[in-house]
Amino acid sequence: MSENKIPYKIYLSEDEMPKTWYNLRADMKNKPAPLLNPGTLQPMTAAELEGVFCRELVQQELDGDTPFFEIPQEIRDFYKMYRPSPLVRAYCLEEKLQTPAHIYYKFEGNNTSGSHKLNSAIAQAYYAKKQGLKGVTTETGAGQWGTALSMACGYLGLDCKVYMVKCSYEQKPFRREVMKVYGASVTASPSETTEVGKKILAEFPGTTGSLGCAISEAVEAAVSREGYRYVLGSVLNQVLLHQSIIGLEAKTALDKYGVKPDIVIGCAGGGSNLGGLIAPFMGEKLRGERDYRFIAVEPASCPSLTRGEYRYDFCDTGMVCPLAKMYTLGSGFIPSADHAGGLRFHGMSSILSQLYADGLMEAVSVRQTDVFEAAEYFARVEGILPAPESSHAILAAINEAKRCKETGEEKTILFGLTGTGYFDLVAYEKFHSGEMKNVVPTDEDIARSLAQLPKVD
Ligand SMILES: *Cc1c(COP(=O)(O)O)cnc(C)c1O
Repeated sequence: MSENKIPYKIYLSEDEMPKTWYNLRADMKNKPAPLLNPGTLQPMTAAELEGVFCRELVQQELDGDTPFFEIPQEIRDFYKMYRPSPLVRAYCLEEKLQTPAHIYYKFEGNNTSGSHKLNSAIAQAYYAKKQGLKGVTTETGAGQWGTALSMACGYLGLDCKVYMVKCSYEQKPFRREVMKVYGASVTASPSETTEVGKKILAEFPGTTGSLGCAISEAVEAAVSREGYRYVLGSVLNQVLLHQSIIGLEAKTALDKYGVKPDIVIGCAGGGSNLGGLIAPFMGEKLRGERDYRFIAVEPASCPSLTRGEYRYDFCDTGMVCPLAKMYTLGSGFIPSADHAGGLRFHGMSSILSQLYADGLMEAVSVRQTDVFEAAEYFARVEGILPAPESSHAILAAINEAKRCKETGEEKTILFGLTGTGYFDLVAYEKFHSGEMKNVVPTDEDIARSLAQLPKVD
């Protein structure tokens, strides 16, 4: 099909929308390592996990073999309110860069929560409701996940308790209030409302909190309450499963025009948007049907894939969660306070970690001032104000497109534009004022943090 037939935005009709999620693990020869019970070091059983997580989500978490899971009608109905998300041919960006590359991005910021996280939030809230629970607890860092979960719980009439990392709670009052609009209760973490919070406060008075610490509090808040379970917005297998909607929609849209990407790029925090975007393409690669390059982009100040080790580690600072085998900087690792670009989690999804260890995916780390420069460049050319997280992928896509210009190669690049930056203007302000620094951990910093890892393997 001739190129000018490809519209600026490719939409899907309701009939073309995916009816199943795709479970990438089913096509992996080397399955991701199981979660371990930190006490016994044995794989977590469904019964153990059901004390913390919703029953049906535990089934999804542990199922490495079933390739497709039907998306329940209620979730598909909710998806219709903001999906399909647009797949945009970045004609303006291509023109501006004078590149022969064809660039596409999948934009997930078209919902009030402003990111892809809603795709899994509604699924997790749905299964909690189906189980007859009263509510769910969770942590949120910058606030995107908490906002998404609040929306999902508000829609289904579930109680939602959010532990928000204290520095974000104070610096991002707008997100906090959006969560309250949807009926969530929001607590700054660490707090006095949990034992683990009190312990962390006693040990580190004045701490502004971390994601790992908020996870510990949210887990405790769930297991100590009748009718509550804990939900997590990234990292877990079930979250990547739900996020496969991103890749499935993108692939269906591209297939309509016979377009095959050569390179698929996504930013990587815990790995959920990247895992979801690449899923159907990686499936083809794993089955030997087609080759693709996949690139995970992470911040130089929190470089779990590029500088971490592939080991069993805790997902949380309080060490109450199961152990996950993943590329990690150590659960005690806290990125520099100067880091403003998100993607702050110390580890990486077990699925993506295994794919990276097997050489099926590449990873690059980028400096935050370069990320914000790319963000502004993109905003001026394509119009969308991008989230700093998403801008990691923008930067890598621009770099690949520039390389195509040098070599004259007409590559097709697909990247994930995960969200909008309306609530990240304090970070943009730092960039504008010249205050933003590139603080990168030293080898000693990382070695010190990795020395604390549990001895498992
Ligand atoms: C949370 C978030 C991310 C990173 O999370 P992943 O699980 O790695 O996808 C990226 N972009 C935005 C906009 C987010 O809110």
